[in-house]
Amino acid sequence: MKSTENITQVKPKIIVIGAGVSGLTTAKLLHEDGFDVTILEAKERIGGRTYTLNLGEAKVDTGASWIHLKNGNPLTYIFNAYNFEIINDRRNAFQLWDEKVGKKIGWKKYLYWREAVKIRMKSIDDYEGAAKDKTAANFFEEYIKLKKWSPKKERIIRFLHAVMVEVDYAARLQDISYSDEYYLDNFIEKKQSDGFPSGGYKELVNALSEGLNIQLSTIVERIDYFDTNVKIFTNEGVFVCDQLVVTVPLGVLKKQSIEFRPSLSKRKINAIHSIGFGNLEKVIFTFEKPFKSKEKYHFYFGENENGLEFPLIYNCSHTAGVPTLMMFYCTEFAEEMQEKSDQEILKAAQKVVEKVFNVPNLQPINAHVTRWSKDPFSYGSYSYSNRDATDSDMKILAESIDGKIFFAGEATFPEGQGYVHGALLSGVREAAKLGASLNGIKGLKNYFEAKK
Ligand SMILES: Cc1cc2nc3c(=O)[nH]c(=O)nc-3n(C[C@H](O)[C@H](O)[C@H](O)COP(=O)(O)OP(=O)(O)OC[C@H]3O[C@@H](n4cnc5c(N)ncnc54)[C@H](O)[C@@H]3O)c2cc1C
Repeated sequence: MKSTENITQVKPKIIVIGAGVSGLTTAKLLHEDGFDVTILEAKERIGGRTYTLNLGEAKVDTGASWIHLKNGNPLTYIFNAYNFEIINDRRNAFQLWDEKVGKKIGWKKYLYWREAVKIRMKSIDDYEGAAKDKTAANFFEEYIKLKKWSPKKERIIRFLHAVMVEVDYAARLQDISYSDEYYLDNFIEKKQSDGFPSGGYKELVNALSEGLNIQLSTIVERIDYFDTNVKIFTNEGVFVCDQLVVTVPLGVLKKQSIEFRPSLSKRKINAIHSIGFGNLEKVIFTFEKPFKSKEKYHFYFGENENGLEFPLIYNCSHTAGVPTLMMFYCTEFAEEMQEKSDQEILKAAQKVVEKVFNVPNLQPINAHVTRWSKDPFSYGSYSYSNRDATDSDMKILAESIDGKIFFAGEATFPEGQGYVHGALLSGVREAAKLGASLNGIKGLKNYFEAKK
């Protein structure tokens, strides 16, 4: 008779598609617990929508920049455990350039900002559990009718409210559902602040990838899961595994650039199409000389009829290491810009910077334009709750199939949708389903202990 002590359990072979934060997290936790795990990544680099670019001397994040709600964010626990520095970012200093009047508006208009924040807060309370076809725009119009503001005041508040919501969600007010917002609640009521990874998100991505088997430039085209094992067809040949974790962005699932055989269930397909996937782009400039302004946040009120024109300019010189401006733009204006060349986009952006900072003939030393919405491995920036979707759509997206196909990624995690920490926690969730412990990533256990 064989002794049971001699029986060793053979761990399944696992493949993870995508080396963004969610895929790296899943793979790292499995790998550190002795699982046989391989990542297939389409790009020549890891990190997905977190990518720290060396722009000359500057280190700039072309995707995610902030660690949102630093206190209580799992990323903070991980950064602390790995000794990566986080720079504090309190959003309390800003200036606004009003194109219509051709100058900066004064500090007393800060009150307008408070008003815009209040509107957003109220909308969150009022829309809790409200009919899902109510949108941020519906609420705003109803609210504004009750106020008898002067047209001047209403105009500025409309702008500030739109920037705050549209840049955060990477979507238009009329497409956003307000029913499950949690971010501002914490941000304002609990006076939480955001943080910046001082060396960019690269440090996290590198730490997560340590020791992993990652096949770069491997584009997944088809997934067959008829049999007990799963076959993955790529430009680099066919891979076979027992269990597969799919972490590609929602934009890629929407485009159906990966074929599933048998095809995904109707409810999964409905969920994929219901959840919104926005577009947010950045133009980044570096300069020789520092800017004189004290504020970090600069709003540009350009009154472009196709949405907000470079509405937010962030002075991120303190994290980049050299004088650097990061300009954000989204929705229709971003769509319009995507049809233009880099040179045209840079020229338009530079004109705005010259006005806002009152420095004619600005000479940037380096510049970069992002193209997330045209990137075939993201097709957009991040997911959001739109008027058609609910939390349960994200849960449906996260459901595994036959114990063989698993799904992670920011769009599968309602409590952190659209954020890096959402991607990370979705990766933890799937690794746990596959039998991994939390030991493989430093700081993670502390986070879950603190949450209890
Ligand atoms: C401009 C911008 C600003 C942002 N700002 C912030 C911020 O400040 N703070 C914050 O918390 N979050 C921010 N985010 C969101 C954050 O970056 C994402 O939520 C997070 O990085 C998503 O991680 P993920 O693992 O879910 O997906 P991804 O990082 O996209 O990983 C998926 C991976 O799958 C790969 N892939 C795709 N298709 C295939 C295929 N066919 N075969 C093989 N591999 C494939 C991709 O190349 C990618 O590496 C921002 C995003 C953008 C774009």
